[in-house]
Amino acid sequence: MFEVLKTEGKARRGVFTCAHGTVQTPVFMNVGTQGAIKGAVSALDLKEIGCQVELSNTYHLHLRPGDQVVRQMGGLHKFMRWDGPILTDSGGFQVFSLSGLRKIKEEGVTFASHIDGRRIFMGPEESMQIQSNLGSDIAMAFDECVENPATYEYAKASCERTLRWLERCVAEHNRLNALPDTVNPRQMLFGINQGATFEDLRIWHMKEIAKLDCDGYAIGGLAVGEPTQVMYDIIDAVEPWMPADKPRYLMGVGTPSNIIEGVARGVDFFDCVMPARNARHAKLFTWSGALNIRNEKYKLDERPIDPDCDCPVCRNFSRAYLRHLFAAEEMLAMRLAVLHNLYFYNKLTQRIRQALDEGQFAAFRAEYSEKLSGRL
Ligand SMILES: [Zn+2]
Repeated sequence: MFEVLKTEGKARRGVFTCAHGTVQTPVFMNVGTQGAIKGAVSALDLKEIGCQVELSNTYHLHLRPGDQVVRQMGGLHKFMRWDGPILTDSGGFQVFSLSGLRKIKEEGVTFASHIDGRRIFMGPEESMQIQSNLGSDIAMAFDECVENPATYEYAKASCERTLRWLERCVAEHNRLNALPDTVNPRQMLFGINQGATFEDLRIWHMKEIAKLDCDGYAIGGLAVGEPTQVMYDIIDAVEPWMPADKPRYLMGVGTPSNIIEGVARGVDFFDCVMPARNARHAKLFTWSGALNIRNEKYKLDERPIDPDCDCPVCRNFSRAYLRHLFAAEEMLAMRLAVLHNLYFYNKLTQRIRQALDEGQFAAFRAEYSEKLSGRL
């Protein structure tokens, strides 16, 4: 299922195999929250921009159109026309960040839908059932993301509960995969490490969840407002306790620099809304740093967004044209910007893999980790 081909320091070059194909790692997963990538990008486009894994949101698809609808349409792969690997998150993050009036108990969480206020209950079993109906390749365990900053007492009680929830997720996931009419009986389950910014809680929790022999392990609850160095310190603290033969996923992170630094700390999987969100705000990534395409200086600029990029947008359109589309509020502006930024992230991880293959990751990190954080 997962094989580490090569290492350089803690960085790993690997291959991950699931029901819908093989994934070269490190990998950046492209976020299609509601079965579409925000900015009018479809699964057909993902093929053109080097996407390996699509990520969809359990919470959103459960509320709309409903996971039963997706199941009756043959599962998420068929519904959205993506035949590659799909990861679904557990819904936990959205339940805790988007919905109002939530109430947490041992059984699960009761919350109000952000769409119509309807009261909904979701616990470990419900999350597994929804993800099974969606038929994703990787299901994520239902966990609690505690708010930052959290008190030690609250974070401790929360990650103890998240451990009990994982035990229930594993049992329900096994039961669902064994049913005769399961959409994807080869669905895998990743456990999620929590513990806020307390290293001892993080390590204790990681040791406990590692015993449950999940198919992979994620570090959750980071990039929620803590300083970047704190995030790196937590990864450094937890990594030695993550099973070396399982894929490791840093959830919701981050900037190009964060990804390079995550790889350097032993992470294999990443996802983030940043490339698409920034694109929708005219902020574009290039190999020399980020730029804002609305800037006056691009008014007559005939060059592509990034002369070093070979994405479908940079092969065809000028900065001046993109700037015009944003000024005119054409929908095409967002679409082209999102395509370029996602291509950039997919290319970033491809170049990281190439550097690892060639034993040149340290040099790649030295050249790009800071440069990509800069502005043009
Ligand atoms: Zn481009």
